[in-house]
Amino acid sequence: MSALDHHMVDKHGRRMRKLRISLLDACNLRCLYCMPEHPTFMPQKDWASAKDLVQITRNLVTLGIEEIRLTGGEPLMRRDFIEIANELSTLPVKKLGLTTNALLLEPYLSLLQHTKLQQLNISLDSLDAENFKRITRRDAFSTVMDAVLTAKVMGFTVKINTVVMKGVNDHELPAFVAWSAAHDIPVRFLEVMNIGVMKSQFQERFVPASDMMARLRVDYQLSALNNVPDSTARNFRVSNGAKIGFITSESNPFCTGCSRLRLTPKGQIRPCLFMQEGIDLKSLAPEDYPEALATVIAMKPIGRIPHQPQPMYQIGG
Ligand code: SAM
Ligand code: SF4
Repeated sequence: MSALDHHMVDKHGRRMRKLRISLLDACNLRCLYCMPEHPTFMPQKDWASAKDLVQITRNLVTLGIEEIRLTGGEPLMRRDFIEIANELSTLPVKKLGLTTNALLLEPYLSLLQHTKLQQLNISLDSLDAENFKRITRRDAFSTVMDAVLTAKVMGFTVKINTVVMKGVNDHELPAFVAWSAAHDIPVRFLEVMNIGVMKSQFQERFVPASDMMARLRVDYQLSALNNVPDSTARNFRVSNGAKIGFITSESNPFCTGCSRLRLTPKGQIRPCLFMQEGIDLKSLAPEDYPEALATVIAMKPIGRIPHQPQPMYQIGG
């Protein structure tokens, strides 16, 4: 183990190599499983500045972070988004990605095309405009779909994230598999998580990935693809040519292989999606990072924590 690695490896041998940066908590959709209809967002003045976020990230990359993903809330709502993306593109990382609802994506695509930010995970929970509206509480299906298809044509690596809910969109599983094959775009089916607004309706809405797979196996063969150890998805090639994945956050959490740290919009580093504890890195000198990281990494749980009082959009999903 090198001296650099030392601070990034926990006592279970998990090496922290991925960073998820939540740029803000605000959003322009109101997905049923993520937000109340009238959420309260943090004041903009509390967001860490682009300069601070980039400097923090630069320090973390020096210590071993290899992959970065920007999320939120809706990351494209930050006016300084492109400045952040451009600055992060100069860092020596293997991957730079964005998780977005794609409502504002299309005008950004030409600006992002020549940056390192090439991995776009786009949330799309329905292929039907009316159902999309029911789930997101906004009438925006065609804007999102146009952005998805344009991004693919422009050469970005596009993946779709679909949160599956019983009685809401689980009947669309076969349509997503057909769509994935037709457009050569992988779709990852996410188990809905028992967090935030979902807590009151989790039992009613939860579909385990094993049920999703059983339903799809009626019409298709699923062949498991080789999965990287710290991947959050179990990936399959479908007999119609589709590529699909299942993110089993509830039925089989991926904690034992977790290699992820989280940075909040305020610049606090957190060990886990399910923990509110962390350390503010904004005012820390680079030489103090190793100790702060060692402290945060030591807090990382080895198994799924049952309770997270904060909703997903506030932590950065
Ligand atoms: N707004 C962006 C988007 O939707 O892609 C990024 C932030 S969103 C919080 C990140 C991811 O978390 C999305 O894929 C969303 O579907 C997922 N998510 C939010 N609440 C969830 C829940 N209760 N269960 C499972 N996934 C959830
Ligand atoms: Fe917004 Fe993403 Fe949450 Fe939907 S899942 S409300 S798009 S933050």
